[in-house]
Amino acid sequence: MKLETIAIHGGNRVTDSEKPVIQPITLSTTFLHQQDTMMYSRLNNPNRFALEQVLSALEKGVDAAAFSSGNAAGTAVFQSLEPGSHIIAPDDMYHGLKNSILLLFKGVLEADFVDMSDLEAVEKAFKPNTRLVWVETPSNPLLKITDIRKVAALAKAHGAIFGVDSTFATPVFQNPIDLGADIVMHSTTKFFGGHSDIIGGALITKTKDTFWEKIKTVQKIGGAVPSPMDCYYLCRSIKTLPYRMKGHSEHAMVIANFLFQHPKVEKVHYPGLKTHPGHEIAASQMTGFSGILSFEVKGGAEEADKVISKLHYFSNATSLGGVESLIERRAAVEGPNSKTPKNLIRVSVGLEHLDDLLADLDQAFASLK
Ligand SMILES: *Cc1c(COP(=O)(O)O)cnc(C)c1O
Repeated sequence: MKLETIAIHGGNRVTDSEKPVIQPITLSTTFLHQQDTMMYSRLNNPNRFALEQVLSALEKGVDAAAFSSGNAAGTAVFQSLEPGSHIIAPDDMYHGLKNSILLLFKGVLEADFVDMSDLEAVEKAFKPNTRLVWVETPSNPLLKITDIRKVAALAKAHGAIFGVDSTFATPVFQNPIDLGADIVMHSTTKFFGGHSDIIGGALITKTKDTFWEKIKTVQKIGGAVPSPMDCYYLCRSIKTLPYRMKGHSEHAMVIANFLFQHPKVEKVHYPGLKTHPGHEIAASQMTGFSGILSFEVKGGAEEADKVISKLHYFSNATSLGGVESLIERRAAVEGPNSKTPKNLIRVSVGLEHLDDLLADLDQAFASLK
């Protein structure tokens, strides 16, 4: 089956005798003992099972575990490491997951945060107790690209598990397992959900090894599992994921070019642009460049805020991956310790008509003198 077909049929498991075309929502928390597939909904549920099946198939893995948020999914990986393990993670790691390591596993796990595009720095960061190498590509908010194949080889050479947060790419554009990853993570809150109305996360594995068994234990005993409703809505959203992603990336490419030639823009960060430092690597490991970009407005924070305030179709809100365009000045969101340039604006390019999006940006820039 091709990706578009998996997206539609891979998460639809109909067992009812009336044979509905669409799998119903099973709200029951408990199941009769006289069958052996389901027992209690924290442990498993037909809708979660369907979601995990389609996620695993889309990422070309052998199994998946769905969680109640992306952060719960990432945290399950860290929690599955032995105490005293060392993690190598990106210096621009998603702040929520960086905080998971730093706040929840303080004194339990060690971590070094390095520039993943600098392979020498990655190599140097290994310690005898390094058990996990974690990357996020494209990254947030500078859309930095990590060479998944090369970091996979380093992780393997040092006997470490290699995990990839592939939230920005989705399996439509990138399959980390094919490139050497052991575990893939997604915040399904973003493109998978696609309508800014579900919080969720997932892990997909290359092999059902002992580490994966620990992750499944964290899922079932920790209990940060998604509700049957959330699983149902995610399966529903996934059916259109491939076509939504085509639209997001097509729009993002045109908007990136528009911004690139705009006299009031200093810099554009989008891996689809040939000028992006990670473009070649992105082109070698992705089949599209997805729908997130960032740019730096000439001037400073004030000019950036002014552009944002004049927009009609780009809502000034955090998060990404929905059908509606979202925009925000990242440094303002990340707080006083943020290293993100003050004039940097991140855009989650939506599926409104491109002409409307371009005209909107045009009039917002016109407000700058
Ligand atoms: C949003 C996000 C997360 C966290 O996911 P939640 O669903 O918000 O918990 C992790 N990684 C990346 C890249 C994200 O964008």
